[in-house]
Amino acid sequence: MRGLAAGFLKAKVGNGQRLSFWYDRWTPLGPLITRFGELGPRELQIDEYALVKDACNSEGWLLRGARSQAAEELHLHLTTIPLPSLSATDDSYVWEVGGNELQEFSTSKTWSQVRNRATEQRWTQNIWFKGHTPRHAFTTWVAHQDRLPTRTRLVAWGMQIPSLCCLCSLVDESRDHLFLRCEVSGTVWGYVLRRLGYFHRGFHTWVAFTDWMRLRDTVVSVTLKRVAAQATIASIWTERNKRLHDGVSQTPASLFKKIDRNVRDTILGKRKTALFQHLMQEWLRHE
Ligand SMILES: [Zn+2]
Repeated sequence: MRGLAAGFLKAKVGNGQRLSFWYDRWTPLGPLITRFGELGPRELQIDEYALVKDACNSEGWLLRGARSQAAEELHLHLTTIPLPSLSATDDSYVWEVGGNELQEFSTSKTWSQVRNRATEQRWTQNIWFKGHTPRHAFTTWVAHQDRLPTRTRLVAWGMQIPSLCCLCSLVDESRDHLFLRCEVSGTVWGYVLRRLGYFHRGFHTWVAFTDWMRLRDTVVSVTLKRVAAQATIASIWTERNKRLHDGVSQTPASLFKKIDRNVRDTILGKRKTALFQHLMQEWLRHE
């Protein structure tokens, strides 16, 4: 049961003297060994059995520069947390079920979470469908699990940062807000959906979005819908990071231009497969 239990045990970083860098779940990315794989210690040049405190000194983090998407996300996350080497609090663990930290262990809440996992399976086809773009599928997958370091998650992890959305600065930046309810991403979805042939958007929650992606309808093929939706999710996340870290922003119209190019590239790359043969025609139909 250890593997199962590990999913519920969240580590809170203090001075980093107790937590395992690779095996504890101390960042929103999950246990780093799972995210980086067994070559992770070599990639970041942090020993497999290092504690979190071993990965930094009073000047900063000692990780090697980012060479992969996972490393980039980790570096990005580390810039948002206080340096453990300068912290006076001890590390601690909490039992977390469905995003809520429990004061004490609850068998019933934990069991209902374990049991409900079966319904997750229906989502896998939305992400790892035949012909997916790995980078887009990956971001969508992490978003689906609500593990992207959105500001409300970072604040919940104890960080002293503003919680307002990086796109609109009006509402707290949760996953559902950022991708589905924000007025900026709403405008981007407007362009994408019009291009797919829809007149309005029927999803403003992640559950509804999931259902929409899975639904076979007469408007557009499920494959094109998934390609476009994943490109949109990835593009919104990239834009959010650019605004936060580089201070540059693009208009929804130019974001859509990039999504359009992404979708075309994906289709062109797979045009020899039967599934993708007619997708370009479909994508250009409402241009
Ligand atoms: Zn917003």
